[in-house]
Amino acid sequence: MHNSYQYRDGEFYVEDVPVRKIAESAGTPCYIYSYAVLRDAFLSYRDAFSGIDTLLCYSVKANSNLAILNAFAGLGAGFDIVSMGELIRVKRAGGDLSKVLFSGVGKTEEEMRAAIEAGILFFNVESVEELRLLNKVGLELGTKAPVALRVNPDIDPKTHPYISTGFKKSKFGIEIGRAVEVYEEAGSMEGIRVTAIDAHIGSQIFELTPFVDSLTKLVNLADDLIDKGVNIEYIDIGGGLGISYKMDEIPPNPKEYADVIAGLVGGKPYKLVLEPGRSLVGNAGMLVTKVLFLKEGTAKKFVIVDAAMNDLIRPAFYESYHEILTVSGPAKAVEKVDVVGPICESGDFLAKDRKFPRVKSGDLLAVMSAGAYGFAMSSNYNTRPRAPEVLVKGGEFRVVRKRETYDDMLSGESIPEFGG
Ligand SMILES: *Cc1c(COP(=O)(O)O)cnc(C)c1O
Repeated sequence: MHNSYQYRDGEFYVEDVPVRKIAESAGTPCYIYSYAVLRDAFLSYRDAFSGIDTLLCYSVKANSNLAILNAFAGLGAGFDIVSMGELIRVKRAGGDLSKVLFSGVGKTEEEMRAAIEAGILFFNVESVEELRLLNKVGLELGTKAPVALRVNPDIDPKTHPYISTGFKKSKFGIEIGRAVEVYEEAGSMEGIRVTAIDAHIGSQIFELTPFVDSLTKLVNLADDLIDKGVNIEYIDIGGGLGISYKMDEIPPNPKEYADVIAGLVGGKPYKLVLEPGRSLVGNAGMLVTKVLFLKEGTAKKFVIVDAAMNDLIRPAFYESYHEILTVSGPAKAVEKVDVVGPICESGDFLAKDRKFPRVKSGDLLAVMSAGAYGFAMSSNYNTRPRAPEVLVKGGEFRVVRKRETYDDMLSGESIPEFGG
């Protein structure tokens, strides 16, 4: 665990602020992010890749709060976006639009137009039909849209199937065997300027071999394309580096990752692009929740808390594990419990069969490693307002997104009046 998370005098701190103090001020459930942790994650990437000409594009979908984007912009990051909404966020956060990539299988014409007008670095194009539409939009705007083709290298990233994206059977990218043919078609289009090659094989990847296998295929393809006269200025290997969710898990660090990558692209005539999301913010956030009730069945004991799957869906969706710490000082695990939320779904749990300390109603718990795909995937299911987000920097904290109100939640709805 990063040294910004510590127990001091029997209290859990984020940097120099007691978690209890934030929970009292913002209420629970609430997300808390540490600036120091995300900064260190970014700097460890930057340092690891300092020997290679690299552009680090933070994957906005992992955590798109304006304060988080602004923090990365301040550290010099570019951004990998997947929607018009994310483009607007990057603009509002003060991000450098000339360092923005636009990924995703289903871009609309409106999104393409806005991104071209914003002057982004390139589009990661995922199909021939998308390429043709982008060409049309480029021509209409009297310009050439900058393009990488996202190829599907057919690699098993050995992670959860929902976050595996580089299989032949997945919906992502253009089959690598067809890439040369599609690059040739792109080269003949007046509204397209080919500039890069891209892949992204999945998320929460714990082994380096899948990255090496993917990049090896990409490098071979890039070299082949360059021989054929295609302009390849960037090789974008996507994101996907895993983080530790359990205390004893050790994911590859950016240095090990950089070393294997440098071995493959060192000395090549193109620049490297990375799109990390989770590995920049995952461990920089926690979800703080309060114990509401204890319930002891004959078969099981439940700790019922005020955060639910609408706040953090990862355990329900990916069967993922999050460490849960007691805020009022370290405590020994003594009994097996399920930590569950108030939502009417059996899938609504934060931990299952977890060896847990004895807790009581009113205790605060910190669900760790919730900085990525936490708030970003939250919803209003069960008409629950989305939690506030708080950013800590040193001894200060600020609410960077207010808790939704009931009026916020219902403001778009109306009861219709029909003529008949
Ligand atoms: C989600 C995504 C990423 C980020 O993945 P992480 O596992 O969070 O690093 C990068 N690129 C693309 C295209 C993505 O869809």
